[in-house]
Amino acid sequence: CNRLEMQALISVFDKKGVVEFAKVLASKGFNVISTGGTFKSLQESGMKVTAVQDVTKFPEILGGRVKTLHPSIHGALLARPDQPSHVEDLTRHQIARIGLVAVNLYPFVETVSRADTTLEEALENIDIGGHTLIRAASKNFEHVVIVVDPTDYQWIAQRLEGGGGLESITLGERKKLALKAFKHACAYDSAVANYLEFGSTPAGVETTQFPEVLHPVFEKKQSLRYGENPHQKAALYQMVGSKMGGVASGEKLHGPDLSYNNLLDGDAALRVIREFGDTACCVIKHTNPCGLAVHSDQAEAYRRAFAGDSKSAYGGILGFNRTLTEAAALALKGVFYELIIAPDYEEGALKILRAKEKLRVLKVPEAGTQQAFDTPDIRTIGGGLLLQQPNPIILGSVDEATKSWKVVTKIAPTKEQMADLLFAWRVSKHVKSNAIVVSKDQQIVAIGAGQPNRIQSLNICRRVGGDKVAGSVLASDAFFPFADSIDAAQEAGIGCIVQPGGSIRDQEVIDAADKFGIPMVFTGNRNFLH
Ligand code: 5GP
Repeated sequence: CNRLEMQALISVFDKKGVVEFAKVLASKGFNVISTGGTFKSLQESGMKVTAVQDVTKFPEILGGRVKTLHPSIHGALLARPDQPSHVEDLTRHQIARIGLVAVNLYPFVETVSRADTTLEEALENIDIGGHTLIRAASKNFEHVVIVVDPTDYQWIAQRLEGGGGLESITLGERKKLALKAFKHACAYDSAVANYLEFGSTPAGVETTQFPEVLHPVFEKKQSLRYGENPHQKAALYQMVGSKMGGVASGEKLHGPDLSYNNLLDGDAALRVIREFGDTACCVIKHTNPCGLAVHSDQAEAYRRAFAGDSKSAYGGILGFNRTLTEAAALALKGVFYELIIAPDYEEGALKILRAKEKLRVLKVPEAGTQQAFDTPDIRTIGGGLLLQQPNPIILGSVDEATKSWKVVTKIAPTKEQMADLLFAWRVSKHVKSNAIVVSKDQQIVAIGAGQPNRIQSLNICRRVGGDKVAGSVLASDAFFPFADSIDAAQEAGIGCIVQPGGSIRDQEVIDAADKFGIPMVFTGNRNFLH
């Protein structure tokens, strides 16, 4: 007989909805077989259940490590009723086929995501029997219905209630369920592999060894209206197991759905705002901070960030690293922004923001932590991925953060200039190369971003910053290959300069700075951002 068998095996860690589902199966004449905890839940609900031991004639052993791993179960799942030798085997060993399996696995990802999980706990949470059930049932999907997702219980139950038995679930649907099950098992094993490789899931920041085969697991979080442009389809995927979920894990408190570009710019906002320990605000346009300021008064930080480039701020993305105050929300009045990100919002602030119909308001608690992401930077190139450790956040006071910097000119920057240089240097890490940042009093005056040569970026700063450039400080994300940029800086009245150093013409560059009496420091490390 090729009919799907009227036996169901249910073994689930997540017991959500399982009683209702099992009751439908039982009411339709299924013999419901179950393991320890699931058996107990079903029995307590008053329905008739068969313990798996009564099928295997073998007790659960090793504290539950071996429950369903038995030929009576796996023979029942793997047998093909259209294969005479299989049918013979079943008859000889008195095995009845199982037509439906509902299983979900031990919570491995949740277990290893907790900071205090021991190796022993992690290993105990690697599901073996359930995983094997999934593989066996899925391999034989023509003859077995495999259900790993509790959200599938309802439609399957409805189908059975229609009276057509398991045959009412079409072969195509069974194949889809099997595919889902294999993906579930595959993601699970990837999480185990990542844990054994990195001690967490997925790769941690400290990772310096790059695995031969990478198994990051991404789950679809939502479909997006479109990609970078309206003719490109797109979706958002979230990395499984990361403790810092980034902008993808943000809680939307108001406004339309986030777009692809919102997410990209929001990510840039989150990265740059987390560079600052003091109260700060940034304005992002096309992933570059066009305005950023640090000020103890958040509303003033916003006003200063806006002043950095008030023309470009229109339609931008705002990032804050403190709970947004009502006063700061009031200060935003009259300017159109696409998205605002903050660790939290005062009630009064939310009320003001909710009046802006098109503004998306996103709560991302980690915006308030001065810490780099715990996942590697992953970027795609045609046919491949590039993986790198994230550029670390610069921590500490001005003295601490600039300890390794070297004054290379005869004149050293003043203490105030040093603080401004550090500010500009921090910002420059987040501006697309070639990056020049001109700032004054912890506030961006102008940025030159993404230009194919450095002097071009510098000249943009001069044009955009106008009079404000005089007396400001300048940061360059990489060394000056020629002294021409120093000439241009001098013409614009730049007060002092920070750059990595490392050019073969460093001496020419230093001589030019000395000639003009512009203090200059070398950081010794470069901050390209492509
Ligand atoms: P229960 O709560 O019913 O005792 O256990 C359900 C869990 O056990 C499910 O997550 C299922 O994947 C898992 N499971 C089923 N069979 C076996 C087995 O033979 N060994 C182990 N370790 N887990 C099993």
